[in-house]
Amino acid sequence: MQKLPMDLTGKNILVAGAAGFVPSHVCQLYLEKGATVYGLDNFITGSKSNIELLSKFEKFHFEERNIFESIPEYKDVKFDYILSLASPASPIDFKIIPLEIMRVNSEGTLKLLELAKAHGATFLEASTSEVYGDPEIHPQVESYVGHVNPIGPRSCYDEAKRFAEALTMSFHTRYNVDTRIIRIFNTYGPRMRPNDGRVIPNFVNQAMDNEELTVYGDGSQTRSFCYVTDLVNAIDHVLMLGDHMPYNIGNPDEYTIKECAELIISALDSKSVLSFKELPKDDPKRRRPDISRVMKLGYLPKVTFAEGLEKTASYFKSLK
Ligand code: NAD
Ligand code: UDP
Repeated sequence: MQKLPMDLTGKNILVAGAAGFVPSHVCQLYLEKGATVYGLDNFITGSKSNIELLSKFEKFHFEERNIFESIPEYKDVKFDYILSLASPASPIDFKIIPLEIMRVNSEGTLKLLELAKAHGATFLEASTSEVYGDPEIHPQVESYVGHVNPIGPRSCYDEAKRFAEALTMSFHTRYNVDTRIIRIFNTYGPRMRPNDGRVIPNFVNQAMDNEELTVYGDGSQTRSFCYVTDLVNAIDHVLMLGDHMPYNIGNPDEYTIKECAELIISALDSKSVLSFKELPKDDPKRRRPDISRVMKLGYLPKVTFAEGLEKTASYFKSLK
């Protein structure tokens, strides 16, 4: 098996969405490996504090940009890797900024792919488990083509990511661009926004404040949660060692949402109780990645849910 390169000194990496939760951890990994990282973000869901943190690295360069409007010319840089990680990802954003989501994953991705073609760079598209919709097969394998509602409340995200995958494949087949597609499953950890609306920040913050945990539906729907450092490690494996076909990345450790709420209450020694709310339309019932393909590249998730929750809770505590 090929080994993951540890020293990326001399490599130039462009990260679209650098101020975001997952992308800021990706930038940090590559800066720690010695690469020069160029970040772009318009802060629609990202945070300036992530950019301040990354700016401590001498080889980090940042420009505020809406990537579906324009990207810098970068006349004096030759990129080795271009990472398309810019996109709001929380279901609460789907109602508020659907067009921004559709445009960044279509027009934004197109601009990044054109840049990758011009630079001869390896391109990575951050797609999502949402491309499977409400899946009819379990666990989800990459060959499953999905069960997606094209006009539902999640469609601005699901369909835009499916388009981004199709665009990426088209640049590979038509122009032979060296491309990667990753389908990220639910990921959590430090640097998520406390008011992000996704389940882990909601439950952890509610439990810390001894407030009711808002379980949608009866809590029998499942998700498989991956701690962010494991996810970033999976991205590194795919980028450096993978091929152009899609990879599921995440942690197959699956919980019902009710179990997840109970685990968080007990881990945080909280007095909270559960409060059951209406289940949002088209909420996927079961989700667990089959990660055998990425495991063949040498990836294995290491952080347990209990460890990850502890680290995430201490992060949210530090913000109080
Ligand atoms: P995030 O919102 O924290 O990060 C996305 C970043 O992209 C933000 O900083 C945002 O400001 C930036 N952005 C959005 N539109 C932009 C635009 N037009 N121009 C410039 N910057 C723009 O979300 P995240 O959870 O870190 O997700 C990162 C990527 O991973 C996204 O592509 C997302 O779809 C994908 N993903 C994440 C998860 C997860 O569980 N976190 C799951 C599946 C897929
Ligand atoms: N959820 C919940 N309570 C919350 C937030 C989310 O019960 O306060 C549920 C949501 O309905 C879904 C699961 O938790 O079934 C994961 O939701 P999230 O928004 O984190 O991500 P999704 O996987 O739906 O994109």
